[in-house]
Amino acid sequence: MNVLPKPFAGPADLTVRINRKRCQGHARCVAIAPELFEVDASGETQELRGGAVPPDLANKVYLAAANCPELAIDIVEAGEQA
Ligand code: SF4
Repeated sequence: MNVLPKPFAGPADLTVRINRKRCQGHARCVAIAPELFEVDASGETQELRGGAVPPDLANKVYLAAANCPELAIDIVEAGEQA
């Protein structure tokens, strides 16, 4: 009988999307996670890398979502419907 624990599989693949209808552009997300968000030339906040979240930034994307006052940040796990 194998009694060893399964190795930790790591965080799920995550994608982040900004809901344009909700976003008010105050860039709190950029301040929290500049590796994931930026303000573009027209002043709109957008996701970097098409919204792909590197595994080592999983905690930061959840922190950014929790601190968005407009609830405009959606996080989708791989295999989950957007
Ligand atoms: S914190 Fe939320 S509302 Fe503000 S810019 Fe970022 S996504 Fe938009």
